[in-house]
Amino acid sequence: MSATQELPGWTHTYSGKVRDLYTPDPAHPVGRAALDTHGDVVLVVASDRISAYDHVLSPGVPDKGVVLTRLSLWWFEQLADLVPNHVVSAVAPDVPAAVLGRGMVCRRLEMFPVECVARGYLTGSGLVEYRASGAVTGIPLPPGLVDGSRLPAPIFTPATKAELGEHDENVSLDVVAAQLGAQTATTLRDLTLAVYDRAEGIARERGVILADTKLEFGTDPVTGRVTLGDEVLTPDSSRFWPADAWEPGHAQPSYDKQFVRDWLTSPGSGWDRASDAPPPALPADVVDRTRARYLEAFERLTGRALG
Ligand code: ATP
Ligand code: MG
Repeated sequence: MSATQELPGWTHTYSGKVRDLYTPDPAHPVGRAALDTHGDVVLVVASDRISAYDHVLSPGVPDKGVVLTRLSLWWFEQLADLVPNHVVSAVAPDVPAAVLGRGMVCRRLEMFPVECVARGYLTGSGLVEYRASGAVTGIPLPPGLVDGSRLPAPIFTPATKAELGEHDENVSLDVVAAQLGAQTATTLRDLTLAVYDRAEGIARERGVILADTKLEFGTDPVTGRVTLGDEVLTPDSSRFWPADAWEPGHAQPSYDKQFVRDWLTSPGSGWDRASDAPPPALPADVVDRTRARYLEAFERLTGRALG
């Protein structure tokens, strides 16, 4: 993983697979100003790192961090009347010049340790569970569904958040309720399905199917409200499929890391997914095509050029 950027006035506190988090340094004028102006905030910086099969790959994908940030900001606006979000500012001078475009100053949330997944279509881990049990996270589904089938209605299929390097595990709503309380579990489900419903409609108008998406919520310690955090409705957190190519029965073409996954699992990469070995470096054409996919997703969904 590349070294984390030094940002004067901000203390690096955490790095996930893709994002780096910083908190204001009260002893530095820049950090002091952030605290005085905005209170308890974090700077969330999306890097160009790309992960697949729970490995961070190299090299990164140029402009990916900007696409994730710009797309998330656009979606937060589209959802603002449904759910409060963590964004405070994405402009200078709140965001340091070195990470302008990739950074967002956000309310610091107490994150719930749950990945809030909504699925309108069956694929991925949902399909694996369905084939084994006819249900996904305990929600029974009709027989005869195949890879890419539209579900009778969108479902909430939470997963517990794993430590870095571990796999997330799909769990039932009851497990979330046991962990966080029934009321919080219900709130997370209702908000997740409301966000999916809104976003699915917007994407559909633009010729894009939102097959599924993963949200992360937290409690804002100041307002006490359940608040939407992290990134939203990006190709990293969601499966977007071109609507005109949708054909249930096999894997769908998608606006995400498909080229990366396809290459990694092809004989050409020489990588054994089952082994402990780190994946090999991505070839330039896989990086280029992945970058083009991320840009196309941004432009199709928002109707804007990245600029
Ligand atoms: P993990 O979330 O397990 O670290 P990850 O690799 O998905 O895995 P990233 O998405 O790269 O992590 O990093 C973003 C991290 O920041 C996540 O842990 C997310 O829960 C956290 N986060 C996002 N928004 C906020 C916020 N407003 N306040 C506090 N933490 C946040
Ligand atoms: Mg994440």
